[in-house]
Amino acid sequence: QTAVADAPAPDKEYTFAIIKPDAVEAGHADAIFAKLAEAGFRVAAQNEMTLSREQAEAFYGEHKDKPFFENLVTFMTSGPIKVLVLSAPDAIKAWRELIGPTNTEIARADKPESLRALFGTDQTANALHGSDSSSSAMREINFFFDGWAYDNMPAETNFAVITPE
Ligand code: GDP
Ligand code: MG
Repeated sequence: QTAVADAPAPDKEYTFAIIKPDAVEAGHADAIFAKLAEAGFRVAAQNEMTLSREQAEAFYGEHKDKPFFENLVTFMTSGPIKVLVLSAPDAIKAWRELIGPTNTEIARADKPESLRALFGTDQTANALHGSDSSSSAMREINFFFDGWAYDNMPAETNFAVITPE
């Protein structure tokens, strides 16, 4: 079910991204794929799924004592998501930059071109996830893509290139 997509970028780094339920439900996935391709990211792996409560709680375990945790888990299990491995030079930092501030309202005020500003809904439903460090990226990629390893992609793999419309 996991589809391998683009070839990794030169000087690649990998990060993990989620197109969250609000953005999938609103039909923003194609526009998001176009924006990320335009920004130089390639999709190394992707899958569509709906998280179980147990998966959402485990994925966001670092936030389990936060006041927004229940809302977050309810939201993240509310519908299908797209989980992505993205590659680009400096992908981790560059993807966090591109998605913008966590709170959609702040994103709209401070970074109107960011993907959360463009596609987010509110403080919880903010359209996109991005790993915040290389250790998070490794943990999160392995959480969703069992056995996927940073260096396991042969250069000659048949890739389908996703290009903006
Ligand atoms: P991120 O790394 O920018 O995604 O932000 P965090 O790791 O701090 O939080 C994880 C997710 O929890 C965010 O993307 C939001 O969906 C949600 N979230 C974070 N902070 C808040 C908050 O203060 N209030 C609410 N309602 N949701 C939040
Ligand atoms: Mg975070």
